[in-house]
Order: sequence, then C-alpha cells, then structure tokens
Amino acid sequence: MRIAKTAISLVLSASALLYGNSALAETYILASLKPLELLVRAVATEDMHTSTLVPAGSSPHNYSMAPSKRRALENADVIFWVGPEMETFLNRLLTGDEFGGRSVALMAPDADAASSERENQDHSQHNDKHGDGHDHGDGEDPHIWVDPQMAVTMAENIRDTLAGLDGTDKPALDRNLERFRAAVTQKEEQIREQLAPLQDVSLFAYHSAFTRFAEHYNLKVEGVLTLNPELSPGARHIADVQNSLRSANHPCLLTEPQFNRQWWRSITQGLDVKFSTWDPLATDIDATANGYAEFQQSIADAVLKCLPENAEH
Ligand SMILES: [Zn+2]
Ligand SMILES: [Zn+2]
Repeated sequence: MRIAKTAISLVLSASALLYGNSALAETYILASLKPLELLVRAVATEDMHTSTLVPAGSSPHNYSMAPSKRRALENADVIFWVGPEMETFLNRLLTGDEFGGRSVALMAPDADAASSERENQDHSQHNDKHGDGHDHGDGEDPHIWVDPQMAVTMAENIRDTLAGLDGTDKPALDRNLERFRAAVTQKEEQIREQLAPLQDVSLFAYHSAFTRFAEHYNLKVEGVLTLNPELSPGARHIADVQNSLRSANHPCLLTEPQFNRQWWRSITQGLDVKFSTWDPLATDIDATANGYAEFQQSIADAVLKCLPENAEH
C-alpha cells in the first residue's frame, strides 16, 4: 500500500514538474503597434501574452527605439508588424538574422498575393452588400489596419501564424477568428449607417492614416496635409490645402494626438473650420478581444463630430 502511494505521488510530482515546464513555455507575442495588438488579442487564446512595442504617445513614423527595447524583441515568440513601408525603424532589425525568422509583416507582398483570391471573394460579397466599389489589393498606403476588411485579412494571417506554433489550440484560434469576423462585419454595418449623413462634409486629414478608412466608408477627403509625416509639408502644399479649406463645404479637420494641434490652428486661422481628433494608434483602447471593434467605433465617433450640428466651433 505504502509503495503504491509513493508511486502515485511520484507520478503526481512528475506531472507537476511537466506542468511547471509548460507553464514556463508560455507564448509571448509582440505587436509593433497597438492596433495590431488588438488584432492579435482578437485571435489569440487567453493564455497567450501580447504587448505593443511603440509606446503610447509615440508615432511609428519618427520613433527611434531605445536599445533597452531589444529585450521585448528577444522575449517574443512572434513579432507582428505592418512592414518596411510603415515601421521604418524596424526594417533592419526585423529583416536581419536574429529576428527575421520570428517576424511576420502583415503587409508583405507575398501575403497580398496569397490572400488576393480570398480577398476578391470577400470583396464581391462586400460590394454586393454595401455598394463599396473600392479595391483593397492596390495602393502603397501602409495604414492598412484602419480598413475593417483589411483588418480581417490581417487577422487571418495572424491565425495562420499562431496555428504554426507548438502546442496551440487551433480550434480555439479558429473560433476566435470567426467571432472576430462576425463582430467586425456587424460593426462595419452600424458604422456605415452612422456615417451616411456625412456625405456633404469635406474632411481634411493630418496624414494619410485616415485615407483607407475614408475610402472604405465612402467619405470625402478633400485634403491631406502631409503625405509623409516623416517630412514637413512644403509651403506650396500647405497653401493648396488652405485654398481647399476656404472653398470647402463644412470643412472639418481630423487631427491626431501624436501631432501638434497648435500647428493646425495657425494654418486654419480666420477660416470657419471644425476640428475633431481621432487616434490611428488606438492609444486609449483596451487590448481585449473586442478592442478592434471599439477602435473602429472610435474613428466613426470622431468623424461624427464633424457633422455641422455636432461640431464644436
Ligand atoms: Zn501614419
Ligand atoms: Zn475596404
């Protein structure tokens, strides 16, 4: 009896040891930007840890990574980023030997090609439903996460990557992806209705981050102040934007917390222009499975403030 008990306790402590080891081998997923972490959070199982590299308040366009941040890259099992057109500060690190093998660029040309067939299918459906004729396959604008259908494609890519890790619960990843797809589709339909009255409002954006959202929901963007936020816009371009603002119907400027609002003020002095702030980096959105839908709604809410009756002068 006594021997049997000892044997059982040995088995138990051996499994405790194994359990202890597997608990140590947890999965750490690093996203370059917060909106990407929201997509990862939507797909990942609850035991997976997620975090964001670029801290709140910083813009990926001019971010320079402190050497201490290398630890976050070293600890990550997988690193998701948009790609070389977006997080230029990561180009050398994530295409090099040390991190190249565990990095996934969600805007990679080969990923585009692989998903183009699926994308076209999604799109003919999507077009039938909403009369949204814009094409997702083209364009170099790297702010792909603001377009909800592109976000679904990114989430599919994330699912495929996580499914390739050791010991992941693939059925759970699939369920999470399907839940995400349904939630985004529902949110998209709500937003399309909410934004319908915005047809005759002329929107102006600080930089191209807003463009893909506007295209997706058929909003009218009459001016983008700077096409490359790493460079200051030229005087000529600013003058053109000012002219468009002057002749626009209910002009509304969408500013961003990462950029200097005071600067906008001087450009718009003496003009009857409304302001609304949106955050392409989802700084205030909690990293939960529902975070991406909340992020979409936060952009729509900022645009709704541009309605003449909602605007603060
Ligand atoms: Zn940007
Ligand atoms: Zn779209």
